[in-house]
Formats: sequence, C-alpha cells, structure tokens
Amino acid sequence: MAELVQRYLDHILAEHTEVADGALADYIPELAAVDPEGFALSLTMADGYTYESGDAACEFTIQSISKPFTYALALDQIGCAAVDAAIGVEPSGEAFNEISVDSATKMPKNPMINAGAIAAVSLIPASSPDARFALIRDFYSDFVGRRLELDDEVYRSEKATGSRNRAIGYMLQSFGVLDDDPDEVLDVYYRQCSLRVTATDLATMGATLARGGVHPRLGRVTTATVIKRTLSVMVTCGMYDAAGDWVSAVGLPAKSGVGGGIVAVLPGQLGIGVYSPRLDRNGSSVRGVRVCRSLSEQLGLHFLTVRRDSLATLRNVYEPQERVRVYEVHGDLLFSGAEQVVRIVEGECDLFDVAVLDVSRVDDIDEAARSMLAALGTQLRASGRQGFLVDPDAAVIRADNDQGAGRFSGVDDALAAAREWTRDRSL
Ligand code: GLN
Repeated sequence: MAELVQRYLDHILAEHTEVADGALADYIPELAAVDPEGFALSLTMADGYTYESGDAACEFTIQSISKPFTYALALDQIGCAAVDAAIGVEPSGEAFNEISVDSATKMPKNPMINAGAIAAVSLIPASSPDARFALIRDFYSDFVGRRLELDDEVYRSEKATGSRNRAIGYMLQSFGVLDDDPDEVLDVYYRQCSLRVTATDLATMGATLARGGVHPRLGRVTTATVIKRTLSVMVTCGMYDAAGDWVSAVGLPAKSGVGGGIVAVLPGQLGIGVYSPRLDRNGSSVRGVRVCRSLSEQLGLHFLTVRRDSLATLRNVYEPQERVRVYEVHGDLLFSGAEQVVRIVEGECDLFDVAVLDVSRVDDIDEAARSMLAALGTQLRASGRQGFLVDPDAAVIRADNDQGAGRFSGVDDALAAAREWTRDRSL
C-alpha cells in the first residue's frame, strides 16, 4: 500500500522541481561543479522511521550545517560557561562570512557565522589538528549513525581559495579569541565543512537533535542541555540574516549550508533534510527554503504551534470481532500523531478487513491530521478493505461531506456496520 506521508513528500518535491532560481556557490570553485538539478527531501520521525523523496542517496558537502554540531561538541566537551566566554549568542544580521566581532565584547557574535564557527573549532580540546578533526568527525557520525567521509576535492578547493576565512582567523587571533595557530584551526574548519552527507543523513541528524541528543536507533550522543542551547542558536541565527523571516514563516530550528543542504528540526518529533544546490543571496538553498516552508504550512510543523498534549496518539488497539480492529486515538492530533496512526494502521492492514478508527476522544485536530485520517479511509477502501470512523463530533470528516457514509457516532454502530459489510462481501 502506498504510504500517505510518502505521497505528501513526493508531491511537495514535485511542486518545487520547476524552481530554477538562485545560483551554485562558486567562491569555492569545486562547489560550482555539482549538478544544479539535484533535489532530495528526507524526513526522519522521532522513532527513526525515515521517508525519502528524490535523490536521497546523493552526497554533498555539509558546509555550514557543520556549525551547530561543532558548537554542540564544544559545549559537550568544555561546558557552557567556557564556550560563552569565547562566542556570543546574538543574531548578527550580517552575512555568514562577515569579517566582524561584537563591538563591545570583541567576540564572534554567534556560532552560526564563520567567525563563531572557526572559534568553536578552536575550543575542541585535542592535542593536534588531526585529533581535533577526528573528534569532530566522530561526533557528527554519531548523530548520523554512519561514518562520514571527507570530500578531498572540496576541502582542497576551499583551502586554496579561503582568503576571507583566513582574514577572519587572523582577526580572531588579534582579539585573543583564538589561542591556536589560525591556519591550523582553519584547516580543521575546512575539513569539517567538506564532510559528505545525504539528505537522509541530515534528517537523521535533525531527529537526533529533535530527541534531545539521543539517536533514534543508537542511543545518546550528547546531553539534553547541550541540545537545548544548540537548538536555541539555530532558531535565532541558523538562517543568517533571514532568521526572523524564517522563524515567522517556517518556525523550525534550522541550519543551511552553501553545499545546498538544510537541516530543520521539530523538537520532540522529527528531523528534516533537504538538498538542492542553487542558493539565494544569503547562501541558503532556494528550493530547500521553499520546501521547508511548504512542509511547515501543509503539515502544521511550526514549533510554536501550541497543543495541549503532544503525546496524543494511539491509546488502545483491540479486536472485538474477527478481522475487525479498533484503533482508539486520544488527545490533540497534529502531523506527527496522525503519521503514527496512519503508519501503524497501514502496517497492520494484513490483520484486518475493517479498521475502525475511534477519534471520539480526540480533543483538537489540525488540517494536516484531518486530511491524513480522511485519506486513510479512502486508501483502505481502495485496497478492498473498509475504514470506519467513530467520529460523533465530525472532527475528521465534516457532517456535510459525502464521505460521511463511513462515519459513526459510536463504536457499537461501527461494529454493526462492519458485520454487515463483511457479510455482504462474503455473499
Ligand atoms: N565552508 C564555507 C565557508 O566557510 C561554509 C559557508 C556556508 O555554508 N555558509 O565559507
């Protein structure tokens, strides 16, 4: 059975395929050599289940999406106070590669611009640049759940042309922010930016952030305190000088990179990875930004959407009659809750002829969840099964809708209809 969420993602990708605005990054010559049409979207739920659409296996360099992760590693290794003594947390309103520090503190304004990211590299305690890079690579790899590899060409290309970052490195040294040799710190920074990832890797990294530092399958990578701080700077500074617009319109902590990737996080619920290498003037993927915006709007993912019970979902599943299963849903239902219900019902469809979805104890439901549950019924019918809804208040299917035929006001009515349907079918 085709999955509903999968179709949503394919649809959102298709909606943006024609978008050709923006341009490849060319200030790192090797980045201008990629296929501009590459396009991928992945979604990893908190339990690790992953949806992929487009070129999900296509690898690209992580670039600035590395910044929150190195910042997290610095927090993890030396603690918040020591990190705060070197890097601020204020949005800069400047370009990512601005040669600037805070005028009062003489520190980089935040860890999401190059100045702050280079400073963060220098905070990772290690005996040599190689040892420092090894720590960074291992830490990112733990977020992904596989070992990330270096793109040697991109690394050399950036190192050979990195005057801007060299200027930032020496400026930081002059203000006493960098204790180590700036060229050695920059070499590690270029290597971290040149690690190769896929959209699915980013979605998994996002899911690990969403779970407060716990990889969905492999367990804890870092502490919830580290992640709270990391997500905070992603909210305020992750999308550079477009951060305000991003928070209002999309409302997901996120980070973009000039390699064309974006990672976005819905805390507690899911991680998103998008890839499309044509960039806007801020250095963020044009299609990536638009896809995130559509996802957030269509699936109701804004992180400040207030709900009463984020744990709302399937409370009870039982089989009162042979090959009839009742799924009882409680609480407030948004995208992630509906995704879970749909996935479980789809996954168990061999066990029943009739699924009765009891939403009579659902308090509140948003548009995305409503259309997913309504589509589930249609999909079950299309596969020769039956989907009935116990929905006395017409929460999912409006009373005047022609799909109202599958809607009942009590479980007993639905079970009687199920018996009738099964009998008719066997005649
Ligand atoms: N490596 C790139 C740089 O330092 C990263 C920039 C980015 O992705 N915004 O210029």
